Amino acid sequence: MKMKYVLDTHTHTVVSGHAYNTINEMMQAAADRGLELLGITEHAMAMPGACHEFYFQNGRRVPRERYGVKLLFGAEVNIMDFDGRVDMSDSLMQKMDIVIASMHVPCMKKGSRDQNTQAYIEVMKNPWVNIIGHPDDSRFPIDYEALVQAAREYGKLLEINNHSMEPGASRQGARENYLEMLSWCIRYEVPVVVGSDAHVDIEVGTHENAYKLLTETGFPEKLVANTGVDFLKKYVNCYK
Ligand SMILES: [Zn+2]
Ligand SMILES: [Zn+2]
Repeated sequence: MKMKYVLDTHTHTVVSGHAYNTINEMMQAAADRGLELLGITEHAMAMPGACHEFYFQNGRRVPRERYGVKLLFGAEVNIMDFDGRVDMSDSLMQKMDIVIASMHVPCMKKGSRDQNTQAYIEVMKNPWVNIIGHPDDSRFPIDYEALVQAAREYGKLLEINNHSMEPGASRQGARENYLEMLSWCIRYEVPVVVGSDAHVDIEVGTHENAYKLLTETGFPEKLVANTGVDFLKKYVNCYK
């Protein structure tokens, strides 16, 4: 039976600096794709070209539903160092409906496997971080068993980033890294969430690469947060 994914937790609009549509356009695309919920997670301030923090502070003024689709207004914060510091204050992250924390080449030094793993574990201790974004990049090697155990301990979702597995994506080794991560997720019963990482409206809800991978590995549907809004609610700030 084909899984139906009803939500996309990871997308960007023009304010991220290298994405190309507005909130309304992304919401319309989500409605056209039949999604129930869309997360818009703009790059936080340390990413070159990203918006000022006032953009996030004023976010409550944005309606949380449009075209019949629920909006989670949030951020993709940058992990800045091996102690797990990020480029947004706790008080501002707390106001975000959803927070993804990710490592990006312009913002984070490439560390050893131990250093990168340490950074992820420290960031997962932050109660306002909900999802670890694209932990799939061989440029930032990690200990996947330790990552998955920490996600279990601190109640975080690990992302399967659909874009990482596109041909020509800048992140390296995503498929192989996800295969390893998923095997530990099955072992420790840790849930994942698929994100499109759309930077343009036609990419909203594109989950095919991730879906294929999850199907191939026989990954249990009960561990995929895209299968229901109620599932996701247990993990994101705005429903806590
Ligand atoms: Zn990212
Ligand atoms: Zn992103």
